[in-house]
Amino acid sequence: MTIARVVVDAPLAQPLEYALPEALQAAAQIGSCCVVPLGRRQVSGIVVALTHSATVDQARLRAVLRVVDEVAPLDANWLALTAFSGTYYQHCWGEVAVPALPPALRTPPGPRFLASLQRLRQREVGAGHAATDGAAQPAFALNAEQCTAVEAIDAAVGFAPHLLHGVTGSGKTEVYLEAAARRLARDPRAQVLLLVPEINLTPQFEARLRARFPHAGVAVLHSGLPAAERSAQWLAAHEGRARLVLGTRLAVFASLPQLALIVVDEEHDASFKAGDGVRYSARDLAIKRAQLARVPVVLGSATPAIETWAQAQRGRYVLLRLAARAGGGAQGQVQVRMIDTREDPPQQGLTQAVRTALQAALARGEQALVFINRRGYAPVIACEGCGWVSQCVRCSTFAAYHKGDGTLRCHHCGWQARVPRACPTCGNVDLRAVGHGTQRIEEALADVLPGARIARLDRDSTRKRHAARDALDAVHAGETDVLVGTQMIAKGHDFQRVTLVAVLNADAQLVAPDFRAPERLFATLLQVAGRAGRSGRASEVLVQTRYPTHPLLAALAAGDYVGFANQQLAERESAQLPPFVHQALLTTEARVMAHALGVLGAARDAAGDAGVVRLFDPVPMPLERLAGMHRAQLLVESRQRAALQAFLVGWLAQVARIAAEHRPRVRWQIEVDPQQI
Ligand code: ADP
Ligand code: ZN
Ligand code: ZN
Repeated sequence: MTIARVVVDAPLAQPLEYALPEALQAAAQIGSCCVVPLGRRQVSGIVVALTHSATVDQARLRAVLRVVDEVAPLDANWLALTAFSGTYYQHCWGEVAVPALPPALRTPPGPRFLASLQRLRQREVGAGHAATDGAAQPAFALNAEQCTAVEAIDAAVGFAPHLLHGVTGSGKTEVYLEAAARRLARDPRAQVLLLVPEINLTPQFEARLRARFPHAGVAVLHSGLPAAERSAQWLAAHEGRARLVLGTRLAVFASLPQLALIVVDEEHDASFKAGDGVRYSARDLAIKRAQLARVPVVLGSATPAIETWAQAQRGRYVLLRLAARAGGGAQGQVQVRMIDTREDPPQQGLTQAVRTALQAALARGEQALVFINRRGYAPVIACEGCGWVSQCVRCSTFAAYHKGDGTLRCHHCGWQARVPRACPTCGNVDLRAVGHGTQRIEEALADVLPGARIARLDRDSTRKRHAARDALDAVHAGETDVLVGTQMIAKGHDFQRVTLVAVLNADAQLVAPDFRAPERLFATLLQVAGRAGRSGRASEVLVQTRYPTHPLLAALAAGDYVGFANQQLAERESAQLPPFVHQALLTTEARVMAHALGVLGAARDAAGDAGVVRLFDPVPMPLERLAGMHRAQLLVESRQRAALQAFLVGWLAQVARIAAEHRPRVRWQIEVDPQQI
C-alpha cells in the first residue's frame, strides 16, 4: 500500500498519513496539492512524502480524496523552505505551507476547477511572454561602483549573500535590474525574485522593472490583490511564464522552480516581518531560500538593519558600497541643522526657524516636506478642569483627536467615538487638544503660509485606493507647495523641487526604551532627509529637538550611517543584545492580567534549569491592554541559536499544555527574533 504523508493547515507536529488509492497513484508526487479528510472536513494539503510504511495501523488510515494534478507539484526547494520556516518559527510545516498557496489552491477545488485554472492562466502577466527575454537597455552606463557591484553579484556562484549599501538615489535599483538582466540572459528559464516593503507607495519600482523587461513576464504578488489575480500571478511564477516576481513579504514563499537570484530592497524595513500568525521575517527567509536554492541574494538599503550590518562586518555577507548619488546632473548640497526647541520653542508645533525657512523656500518657488510621525489632529485631548484625558476604552493608551470628523480614535485597535462636548468626569466644556498630529500641523501651515498649496499624506488621507500615489504625483507635478505627513512622505518619488525638509518631532523616539528605536529613527530620518537635494540647488533639513547634540542626530547630520551602525553594534555587544544574543518572546493574552502573567509564570517554572538559555521574568507588555485583552510577555534568550531552538521545542509543548489546562483560557503566541520587546 502506498502511503502519502500530507501537511495541512493545522497545528500538527507531524505530517498526517493517508492511504493513496490505486487510482491516484499515477497522479500523486511529492509536492502535489491534494484534498484529504480532516475530522469531518475536507481540506487542502500538500504531499510531502510517499512511502510504504505507516507509523500507525494501516487498516485505519483514511484515504486521499483527490490529487490536484492539474497543477505541477511544488519543488523540493519550496518544500524545504516551508519546512524550515515551520521549524525555525516554532509552527507546523502545514501552517506555513498551506497558507502560502494561492487562494485557488488553498481550498479544495470545485467542479469547474480546470476551467477556472485555464482562465487564470490566460490572464496576462506583465507585457509579454517567457519565450522572449530581451531586456531593454538602460539609458545610461552604470558608474564604476555600480559596475563593481553588478560584477560581484554576477560572478557569484551558489549561495552568496551580498549587502548593497547606498543612500537613496545612489543607483541600487539599477544594480538590481542589471544583475537580474544578466541572470535572465544566461539561462532562458531563470527566474528572479524581488522583494520590496510596499508596492503601492513605490509604483515606479514596478514601472522600471516592466520597462526594463518588457518581454520577460513580471508577476506581482502582494496582499492587496483580489484572490483571482493573486492566483493568476502565483501560477505564472510557478509555471515559469513569469521570469520576474516582484512582491511584498508574502512573495518570499512564491513558487519559483528556476530561481536564480533574490533581491530584497530596503531590507531594514519593518514590514518584512509578519505581524501575526507565523511571525516570519521575509528578509531572513530570503537568505535561507537563497541558501537552499544555492543562488546569490542581494540585500539593499541606505540604512541596513544592525543585524545585517553585523553580518557584513563579520564577512558573512559581501559588502558592496555605492557612495555617491547616481542620477547625474548637479547634486545640491544638503545641510542638516538642529533647531534647539529649548531656545526656539515651537508655536503650533513649528519653531520660528522652521517658519522662516518654509516662507523662504516658497518665496523662491521651491517645495517643502514637513514630517511628523503622528496622524490625527492631536494625540490626546484633555480637560483643563480636572485633568481627564482621552483614552481608548479597550487599550491602555490615549485616544487621538481627529478634527475632520470630530472623533476620538485609537490608533492601536481602531476604536472610535464622538468627541464629547464636555468633560465626561467634571462637565467642563473647555477641552483642549494637546500635542500635534499631521492634521493640526496642516492647519498651522495654512496660517503661516497664506495662499500656499498644502497637502497631507498619512494613513487617514490615503484610505482610498491610489490616494497616496495621487498625493505624491501632485508634489512631483509641482501642484503642491508643502506636503505634510508621516513617514509615508519618505517613500516614493524623486521630488525635483524639494529644497526643505522639516522634522518636527523626533524626540519621542530618541528617548524610547526599545533598543531598536535608534536604528528605526535613524533610518526614517535619513530617508526623509534624502528627499531634499535632488533639485541641484542648496537644500536644508531642519530637525526640531531638545537634544541637538545627541550622537544619533550628529551622525544623521554627517550622513554617517557606518559610524552610527558601528556605535550601535558596540552598544549591543556590551549590553548583550541581538545580534550577540538570540531571542524569542512568549506572549499571552487574557481578560485579566493576572491570568496572562500566571500562565507565563507557570511556563517559566516548567522550564527548570534551561542551561545556556536564559528566561526573564514575565512582565506586562508595553501596551498592556489591547482591544480589551491584557497582555504579558516572557523573554527567552541565548547566545547560542541552536540551544535556543532546541529548548523552545520541548518547552513550547509544555507551554501548550499549561495554557490548555488553564481556566479561563489564555491565548499564547511565540515569536522568534522579536522586533519589538
Ligand atoms: P536607488 O535605488 O539607490 O534609490 P536608483 O537606482 O533609483 O537609486 O537611481 C536613482 C536615479 O539615478 C534614477 O533616476 C536612476 O535612473 C538614475 N541612475 C542610476 N544609475 C545611474 C547612472 N549610472 N547614470 C545615470 N543615472 C543613473
Ligand atoms: Zn474634567
Ligand atoms: Zn484601542
